[in-house]
Amino acid sequence: MTARAPENFDPVVMSDLQFDRALSYVSEIKRGLISFLKRPKRINIVNFPVEMDDGSVHSIQGYRVIHNRAFGPGKGGIRYHPDVTMEEVVSLAKLMTWKCALVNIPFGGAKGGVVCDTKALSQNELRRITRRFTSELADVFGPDTDIPAPDLYTNEQTMAWIYDTYDILHPGKNNRPVVTGKPIQLGGSYGRNEATGNGVYYATEHFLSKSLIAEHQTVSGARVVIQGFGNVGAIAAQAFFRNGAKITAVSDSQGGVFHEDGLDPENVMAFKKEHGSVVGMPGTTTITNQEIVELECDILIPAALGNQIHAGNADRIKAKLVVEAANRPTTPRADEILNARGIFLLPDILANAGGVTVSYFEWVQNQANQQWDVEEVNARLRKRMFKVVDTVFDRWQGFVVGEVTPSKSKVVKETPEQKPDFRCIALSLAIDRIAQATLMRGIWP
Ligand code: NAD
Repeated sequence: MTARAPENFDPVVMSDLQFDRALSYVSEIKRGLISFLKRPKRINIVNFPVEMDDGSVHSIQGYRVIHNRAFGPGKGGIRYHPDVTMEEVVSLAKLMTWKCALVNIPFGGAKGGVVCDTKALSQNELRRITRRFTSELADVFGPDTDIPAPDLYTNEQTMAWIYDTYDILHPGKNNRPVVTGKPIQLGGSYGRNEATGNGVYYATEHFLSKSLIAEHQTVSGARVVIQGFGNVGAIAAQAFFRNGAKITAVSDSQGGVFHEDGLDPENVMAFKKEHGSVVGMPGTTTITNQEIVELECDILIPAALGNQIHAGNADRIKAKLVVEAANRPTTPRADEILNARGIFLLPDILANAGGVTVSYFEWVQNQANQQWDVEEVNARLRKRMFKVVDTVFDRWQGFVVGEVTPSKSKVVKETPEQKPDFRCIALSLAIDRIAQATLMRGIWP
């Protein structure tokens, strides 16, 4: 047997690998569209000076990538991070394209990044960086062209500054829909903050009702492990707990805690608020972030960083179902291993799509200057998440029982390791929709 090359963690390489695997399940696609969809439509790189509080001047670099606009304006978050690269932003913009197409919202995919360390900046410096970045992209952003949102180390305050700057530069019209994830007072949507975590729960609940996991057709009684107890992880933990699941372990950047009888997420949140980490919670056993993903459990929810499940640990994952709350927590090699082992996985573009879905609701509310109550937002979100699970499940089943055959016959369905996984199927559905929309619009000129 020949040894395989070490795993390549380059985000562009990984997203291309996922894309290529999904292509086998796309009904029909013109060859030229394949390379078109693999590349971004437009990359904006901006450099600008910012005056610091001490009077010095820093040169800041930022990116805004629009990957595809077949369905509508670009949509995607802006992250502030010292290590953010254009390649990373490109791969995340692609992910947004697939996610929006999969949940059927009229947006394309985009993403932004600003190279800066928010921990080393004052609020005034952050405001100046945000306003200048927005002004550099004032002709790119727009309620009908490209709509940013929060991402890593940006938040509703950042969105308020972007909205205000854009509004000053484009006076005399309703500019609220130019960004989502705004504060409620400025037209933010009720339920947006909880949307991704709640969406993770809705998707899981509905997936379990399909009876693929015989012992668990609801979350009630299921043992759930969550890596990353931040916004998404903590909200998801509360939703699972309310519905009878046992949260046996959670973690943050400092490490994790385990309790066989289950943890109450409210208590963990209170402890983390007081002590800055979940680690040290009385009565729990401390574990590492490597150990947490390998724990015996029914449902594993990676809700922190990318590449947490990889070729080096995928054969030690003991969950029956992995639900990707984070973006890209599982590598393509790990996908193959989990699939061969019969472990199901709900991919990021499906499982964490609740956030962009409620961002879309915010945009719709802003167009009409309305604000729906949280019950209405959650009911609409639940319905959409159920529908996308149904659509992906039905398509998956079509391939598995052989009603539909893969387009390139690369895949033989009989052996378990060669069954399509839910990522391939969800991605193929998104690619299908975008390819069809592109052709339906007619290639110009
Ligand atoms: P967050 O910053 O609120 O939480 C992240 C959590 O992960 C924190 O508790 C942090 O301590 C923890 N963490 C950091 N490094 C870790 C490590 N090495 N091991 C374990 N935990 C670690 O972020 P969030 O908004 O909850 O986002 C979490 C993930 O979900 C990210 O991958 C993000 O891209 C993805 N996501 C978020 C949204 C959203 O609406 N917030 C939407 C879609 C996807």
